[in-house]
Amino acid sequence: MSGDSRFVAQRIILEVKNMKYDMHSMKAEEFINDAEIRETVAFANEHKNDLALVDEILEKAKKRKGLSHREASVLLACEDEAKVKEIYDLAEQIKKDFYGNRIVLFAPLYLSNYCVNGCLYCPYHLKNKHIPRKKLTQEEVAKEVIALQDMGHKRLAIEAGEDPVNNPIEYILDCIKTIYSIKHKNGAIRRVNVNIAATTVENYTKLKDAGIGTYILFQETYNKENYEVLHPTGPKHDYAYHTEAMDRAMEGGIDDVGIGVLFGLDNYAYEFAGLLMHAEHLEAVHGVGPHTISVPRVKPADDIDPDDFDNSLSDDMFCKIAACIRIAVPYTGMIISTRETPEVREKIIRLGVSQISGGSRTSVGGYAEEERPQDTAQFDVSDCRTLDEVVNWLMRAGYIPSFCTACYREGRTGDRFMELCKSGQIQNCCHPNALMTLKEFLIDYASDDTKRIGEEVIEREIDTIPKEKVREIVRERLVKIADGERDFRF
Ligand code: SF4
Ligand code: SF4
Repeated sequence: MSGDSRFVAQRIILEVKNMKYDMHSMKAEEFINDAEIRETVAFANEHKNDLALVDEILEKAKKRKGLSHREASVLLACEDEAKVKEIYDLAEQIKKDFYGNRIVLFAPLYLSNYCVNGCLYCPYHLKNKHIPRKKLTQEEVAKEVIALQDMGHKRLAIEAGEDPVNNPIEYILDCIKTIYSIKHKNGAIRRVNVNIAATTVENYTKLKDAGIGTYILFQETYNKENYEVLHPTGPKHDYAYHTEAMDRAMEGGIDDVGIGVLFGLDNYAYEFAGLLMHAEHLEAVHGVGPHTISVPRVKPADDIDPDDFDNSLSDDMFCKIAACIRIAVPYTGMIISTRETPEVREKIIRLGVSQISGGSRTSVGGYAEEERPQDTAQFDVSDCRTLDEVVNWLMRAGYIPSFCTACYREGRTGDRFMELCKSGQIQNCCHPNALMTLKEFLIDYASDDTKRIGEEVIEREIDTIPKEKVREIVRERLVKIADGERDFRF
């Protein structure tokens, strides 16, 4: 039996045994099937030293069409040093092929820490009486947005606890309207992504109509049993309602969704398989997989000690997970936050991350404060550098910091976006857009040193734009940006 057919046969046998697993099902427990995940993890452990199989999977991965959760799990389990190096090298190459050397920057904006849920890993849980509860008024939202614009941000992810009385959908919609309406100096928030609790199809349609970019919802953990323990009270306790949220979001018209797990809550291999199964389900049912995958880890915060969760994972394993996600879903953006240290961020960006937050404050109203406030922070930030420092650091490390928000504004969302992404054509937009938005940042917000390095980066990178016509247009637009015009995009 050839290598390929042997692997296919193994998969078929396992799939027949798992009658309940159905990626096309709309039921959470069927598309995230516990038995299938457990067998996947067992299969991966059994075959982690089967170098012939690892080679077959790597050959398939080199075609850049992605891997199944089971194939990717074998790579994640593999311990052979030479093969692990191949995995890292391939992840790095795929990242270069699909995303070039640009890194998109964003900031979280915390609107309210009122929450009726009892999540054991989050300081906003209802029973935490140590933290002051705060909800921004529209005037305060405007102040936050001005502070974020003055840093140079163009893309936000808004966050709020779940509280139907304090944070109803109308409040979120008002905030989005306020955010888009503020035009301070040359600043503007051009894309608002939304990270709020699972909700109804009707509410997702309202968010879509408000012009949001991506709807983001972390699964936290795919392990239902553990999920119910970690979410003992509140609406979030309902595993199925939470897990099926992306299907409702898509039904409501949002075609860019972002998934993620909070690594550290459960066994990482279990979460990894669940995450990829969720991506497979979205692709199978809606014809488009997740727009982004986030990889947060449990971090210290008020009332929260990560040691209370015994599934913490090493930096090395964390990086390996990122590399395997990059290989398994090459065309899905990957996000890392300031939860991680600059050292980890540097390593993991190389392996596949396409978006990072910068200059983040994770407290309600934190950006308008002079000092970094901590009393309402959702988690401790490990990377406390300013946005200018992050931009400077990225350029010194060979990346182009990008403030691009073009796609959803040009109607490139959902399957239309994915098509361009899978064919690699999106690069023709991403790269010039990165240069033009970087130029805006340099003129409006950068320190002298960042400006100097940035101008060199732009000069160097223009020459790498393959089409002469595009090069010309970019040069013309850069002059116009220097003359005060803004918001050019491909
Ligand atoms: S994770 Fe979200 S839902 Fe849970 S307590 Fe924190 S803010 Fe509330
Ligand atoms: S062109 Fe689209 S995919 Fe590329 S950086 Fe801009 S928004 Fe992202």
